[in-house]
Amino acid sequence: MTCSDCGKEISQHEHKESFDNLGVNLCERHTKLIKRIILNNNTPLEAIQLFYALKKKGAHPMLEWWDGNKSVDIAFSRVKLNIEIDTEYNLITHEQALKDLEEAMYSFKNGFTTVRIPHLTVKYYLEDTVENILGIITALKAHMKVI
Ligand SMILES: [Zn+2]
Repeated sequence: MTCSDCGKEISQHEHKESFDNLGVNLCERHTKLIKRIILNNNTPLEAIQLFYALKKKGAHPMLEWWDGNKSVDIAFSRVKLNIEIDTEYNLITHEQALKDLEEAMYSFKNGFTTVRIPHLTVKYYLEDTVENILGIITALKAHMKVI
């Protein structure tokens, strides 16, 4: 088994440590790194799993990317796509909805597309989620060529 980040061979212990805690296979160094990112940004585990699933498909996502205003869960800066994982989708308040809308407005102003994905969608439909994001990236690239 290898680390999903650096491709290094990992031990059974490293596998257990990273998979039990994060749901991905990482070496000791990358497990530490990801844990620190989660601690600093309150990153949902589903964002970590989606990040590595996208990487595996040959995409180039960035985790907790600072857009100048806030940290974005996953970003594809080349095609200006932001992905946010919603963890409290069913409990969304009016205030939060308005805040999300305002953030979306700022993103659009900067030419960014923001896609919000409920964490359970990532959890239960990871492959479909990845395919759809890859489709969005392809479409965004095509639009950029037209412009
Ligand atoms: Zn690694």
